[in-house]
Amino acid sequence: MIDLRSDTVTKPTAEMRAAMAQAEVGDDVYQDDPSVNALQELAAQTLGKESALFVPSGTFGNQLALFTHAPRGSEVVLGEQCHIIQHEAGAASVIAGVQLRQIDAPDGALDAAHIAQRLRRADIHAPATSLICLENAHSNGKAVPLKVLQDIHVLAQAWSIPVHLDGARLFNAAAALNCGVKEIAAYADSVMFCISKGLCAPVGSLLAGTKRFVEAARFKRKIMGGGLRQAGILAAAGIIAIKSMTQRLEADHKRARALEAALTKIKGITVAPGNDINMVFFTVSSITGAAQAAAVVNEFRKRGIIISEPQDDGTFRFVTHYWIGDSELEQIITAAAALF
Ligand SMILES: *Cc1c(COP(=O)(O)O)cnc(C)c1O
Repeated sequence: MIDLRSDTVTKPTAEMRAAMAQAEVGDDVYQDDPSVNALQELAAQTLGKESALFVPSGTFGNQLALFTHAPRGSEVVLGEQCHIIQHEAGAASVIAGVQLRQIDAPDGALDAAHIAQRLRRADIHAPATSLICLENAHSNGKAVPLKVLQDIHVLAQAWSIPVHLDGARLFNAAAALNCGVKEIAAYADSVMFCISKGLCAPVGSLLAGTKRFVEAARFKRKIMGGGLRQAGILAAAGIIAIKSMTQRLEADHKRARALEAALTKIKGITVAPGNDINMVFFTVSSITGAAQAAAVVNEFRKRGIIISEPQDDGTFRFVTHYWIGDSELEQIITAAAALF
């Protein structure tokens, strides 16, 4: 099956499975797992941070960052469409016990001037801002320019407020911005990235920052039940993800742009412009209701292609990844022309 629902559907490659089978392991709660240690060192080095910690998922890494940076009852400032607000099941209220203050950011990119109006110190009525969260690449398919990150970083430093970057697709952002991941990571105090999305590893994310931050996070990871034992089996795939899979993301982006170009030619399809990464968003004028949408999803499935139902506003999202090559792309375009 061709699966366009997300890049989270990527299965480990043969090379990863071989590395996993042979991975040296130990008990990582004792920090005895050589493969986890190697993955964490590689992640820290790659991002230009002092240290990094392996965590079970991106949501876990983001929530651990909030839990570590932000005192209970404080306020975290972030964009309204970000993953932490939209897709993490309200975890910030349960785990860190913080208040989330949303900033309008229809395009995903926050603006330093907007954020500046929302920062506050504690007084008898107000919670103090304890953290600013950014997302890059944004899950709306856009890479946030370095200048935006830099301006927010300057503001945060002036206020002595840390910045956490949700970089679930950090390497996609770097490929889209044509820069190194270090350049993006430099504007954040902590960075989370996923090895389980377009990088093909089966499980896991990394949370990077200063040694001190990571040590505090290690303790809080235990509180959250994320102290894993022989996790080196997973880390072995993560090492390949970082070393080699990060180098090929441009191919996914190119195929996404090629798919956009092909869809644009189909009558009734309107492709959302300005996407930088491996995502294509579009509406189809002939599909107006849930029943029609469900029917088309079913028709795609009959042709061996799995797609998600459109969002509430009728927008379809197709995501390209490692397992979608040129011949798969052709099949998708042929199906789209016949079914939409
Ligand atoms: C996928 C994603 C996450 C969370 O990752 P999970 O591993 O699914 O918990 C966080 N942030 C963004 C922007 C994402 O796209």
